Amino acid sequence: MQENIELSKYTSFRIGGPASFFVEAKTDANFLSALNFSREHNLPFFVLGGGTNILINDQGFKGVVIRNQSKNLSFEDQGEEGLVIADTGNVLAMINQFGNKNGVVGFEKLATVPGTLGGAIYNNAHWKDDLLSKHIKWVDVIDPTDKELKVKRLDITELDFKYDSSVIKTKNLIALRAGILLFKGDVSKSKKIYAEYVKSRTESQPYGTLNSGCMFQNISQNLGPGNHGTSAGYLIDQAGLKGLKIGGAQISEKHGNFFINTGNASSDDILKLAETCKAKVKEKFGVELEFEVKIV
Ligand SMILES: Cc1cc2nc3c(=O)[nH]c(=O)nc-3n(C[C@H](O)[C@H](O)[C@H](O)COP(=O)(O)OP(=O)(O)OC[C@H]3O[C@@H](n4cnc5c(N)ncnc54)[C@H](O)[C@@H]3O)c2cc1C
Repeated sequence: MQENIELSKYTSFRIGGPASFFVEAKTDANFLSALNFSREHNLPFFVLGGGTNILINDQGFKGVVIRNQSKNLSFEDQGEEGLVIADTGNVLAMINQFGNKNGVVGFEKLATVPGTLGGAIYNNAHWKDDLLSKHIKWVDVIDPTDKELKVKRLDITELDFKYDSSVIKTKNLIALRAGILLFKGDVSKSKKIYAEYVKSRTESQPYGTLNSGCMFQNISQNLGPGNHGTSAGYLIDQAGLKGLKIGGAQISEKHGNFFINTGNASSDDILKLAETCKAKVKEKFGVELEFEVKIV
């Protein structure tokens, strides 16, 4: 267990003060002992994945941060399909690559979402019309409220996946690994599709900046073009907020739902910008924006 470790270098915003206690977990046993430590010392904890959907306060976190470095991968051939069994410290692109090596395809869209499988399960990662929950069969978890901590398997019916949510989020569980079902197919075509999706993402998002993906959740009401809900980015754009800057934080000119650390943003700068967005969108559309980014 390390002490007083700066978290900013582990987040894509490059924002975040020190964790009182910090551990890199590579095995189930590492997770269990970190949780036992937090329990014995009566300290809060959270799991840090790739840090691509989180805003950590500059004051830091007075508790135990468990950075997920658990990266085993294995494959079960199931005839027309194949199950990739991935530890949640793997990034989604790596899972896609490993699937391709074993002859399975279908993970191309999600593979372009940054961050680890754990973060993706927590929030049921989505891109275009694909959702992580469409591919998951089961997840191994630890429930920190169990009297005696242990690893148990939840199947898809127990995972309660919804838009931007899962039982991992609502019950504060730790996701250790998952079974991801993909299908046998043309691997070279899959690689081409993946490369096209990567390109389309870099064209529509502020690629190369310090950001944390979408700040707010999309809403289910139809307030803009189309009839499948409204993107928070559209509402922010229509409220005339693109490009707005507070301190070192700025709303991207390219995508209204992306907040950028222009170099020296504090966590407060980002939060003030978020509050301004919420107030203006509420005033114009009567809609209460909810954070997609986890605020710590
Ligand atoms: C440029 C950019 C583009 C993005 N595009 C998309 C997109 O298209 N679609 C999309 O859905 N998201 C997108 N995101 C957001 C982000 O990539 C996803 O939410 C991703 O799944 C977060 O994973 P992470 O490992 O970085 O999670 P972190 O940021 O480390 O953590 C996020 C939350 O998940 C929890 N968590 C992480 N791992 C575990 C675990 N093993 N067990 C329990 N809880 C855990 C954390 O405690 C925290 O509450 C984007 C982000 C960026 C920077």
